[in-house]
Amino acid sequence: MGFSVKLTLVCVLLIAFLLGYNIFTVVPSIYAQPASPLSSDALRVPVRTRVAAYADDAVPNEYQPSAFLAGNVAVQVVFVESNGQYEPSTHDWTSSQMAQIRQRISTALQWWAARLPQAQLHFDITSQVVPSGYEPVTHDLSTESLWVGDALQHMGINAPNYFDQAYAADEALRRERKADWATHIFVVNSTGTATGRFADGHFAYAYINGPFMVITSDAGPYGTSQLSPIVAHEFGHIFGAVDQYAAAAVPCTEQSGYLAVPTTNSQANNCGTQYNSIMLDPIGAYAANAIDASALGQLGYRDSNSNGLLDPIDTTPLLQLQLSQATSGARPLVSGQAFDQAYPSPGGDLASINTITKVEYRIDGGAWLPLPTADGVYDAVSEKLNATLPLYDGPHNVAFRATNRIGAISPIVSYNVAVSGIGAAPSYQVSAPTMSNTQHMMLALNAPAGAGVQVSENPAFTDASWVPASASLDWALSNLDGEHTVYVRFRDTAGLESPPFVLTTMLDRTPPAGRAMLLKRSNSLWLEIQAQDSESQIDAMQISLDPNTAGSWQPFQPSTLVSLQANTMYVRLRDAAGNVSPPMSAMLEMPVWVPIAVR
Ligand SMILES: [Zn+2]
Repeated sequence: MGFSVKLTLVCVLLIAFLLGYNIFTVVPSIYAQPASPLSSDALRVPVRTRVAAYADDAVPNEYQPSAFLAGNVAVQVVFVESNGQYEPSTHDWTSSQMAQIRQRISTALQWWAARLPQAQLHFDITSQVVPSGYEPVTHDLSTESLWVGDALQHMGINAPNYFDQAYAADEALRRERKADWATHIFVVNSTGTATGRFADGHFAYAYINGPFMVITSDAGPYGTSQLSPIVAHEFGHIFGAVDQYAAAAVPCTEQSGYLAVPTTNSQANNCGTQYNSIMLDPIGAYAANAIDASALGQLGYRDSNSNGLLDPIDTTPLLQLQLSQATSGARPLVSGQAFDQAYPSPGGDLASINTITKVEYRIDGGAWLPLPTADGVYDAVSEKLNATLPLYDGPHNVAFRATNRIGAISPIVSYNVAVSGIGAAPSYQVSAPTMSNTQHMMLALNAPAGAGVQVSENPAFTDASWVPASASLDWALSNLDGEHTVYVRFRDTAGLESPPFVLTTMLDRTPPAGRAMLLKRSNSLWLEIQAQDSESQIDAMQISLDPNTAGSWQPFQPSTLVSLQANTMYVRLRDAAGNVSPPMSAMLEMPVWVPIAVR
């Protein structure tokens, strides 16, 4: 079910452009209504091809560069630089000018990130100067294909038409930056022109839901200093929001965006609401941080069930598996896929950004164990699975589940399977310290003679090699304090691998920090310690009169009655991982809380 049927090029609204000022000034408003020179700035790509083949797939396809505004967004700013090949080059970028524009685009995107906290937006902004044989600012919208297509070709992107080039450029950027969405902002040099506009009056426009936006360096009558609000408005179009100012003539019922939300705040047909909004009045709404509910909905920013997750990312994964029943002497194979189930889109293609983060299995009701993905890394909305199950002889129940980026877990799929001709499960055991104050720690192993072992912090063991399973094995944790998950699996002399063992160890190399003081209370001397540790608990302390002499360790107490009599003592603290702090001096403080009688 493609929505190409309703894709109509709205450049007919160029007519309204000529009337823009007049139409705007007569709109009654609940806020100071400026005369907006923006007009016909929201466009739709006239032709989309190959939509049907993708329609039911949750993986965002090439024609969905920016379906809803959430997650990681790669934005590439393209400064088009004429090189005189086809037309005289009359404008040249300066580096300071480009730096200023980049800064204002970045500010506009941060405005969105701050407005939409539930979208967990992260913008990855890159920029480049791209040559074109044309001088873009001398062109009309009707000839943008010339300079946009030429610039994209200089970026190494070839396709039958410039829209397909732009979609391909977005897709390449999305893959390169490992982003959920991608878009391009073409910046055209209008320096020195009388109006800061293209020949036909345009100065900023965008295609709804992508693939790109165009802006002149002067943003027409707004001026370079107002680039941020204008880019913020155009960016709304890129992610599905449509115009609300009267001159755009958008019907109240016009639906847009992934969730097909109607434009109920349109001023064109007296829809009934006049909320301040970035899609209505860029300058005023940008300053007021205003976005109305219909624009938010068109961007996908709606939480229908109020569970804190926006509808387009409130999704659950699903497993589609086949388990081969084993023949004697062979282990069963599991194959199939784990994929996220996209939130329904009433008007268009499905898309989800909730990647599969893991698939797990458990044998006979045991612990959940990581199942490797076919390509070695869980990073996609759809992941292929193809693995041998490490089962030994006997009847088994094997259950599977998949987890996505928001932590939603699929329905459990389980199978009964009988294995024979493999042999009984060997007696494998492994343990690790629950805490370590060095990267290197000793694993205690127990395995039949001749067994091999692999240890890794990667559940797919892609970086691990087989070593003999000796009784103790030195293992180096990765170089980061905090909790580490360590996976261990064995292999017998016949080459049969065991299921993995999953161990957790806290790496803490930071000693406790804090301060100590001596206080006199009712002629008793108290040692008070205020201290904390980064990853574990403080569990012991030493008290001494000499910083160079260690006393005996005793359990940590934040407040201790001391029998020693001195004005200075020294305290060392030890955390549960064994890290010891340098000696801290505790000096006798004046007991400031003793009431002083005033006559
Ligand atoms: Zn607009």
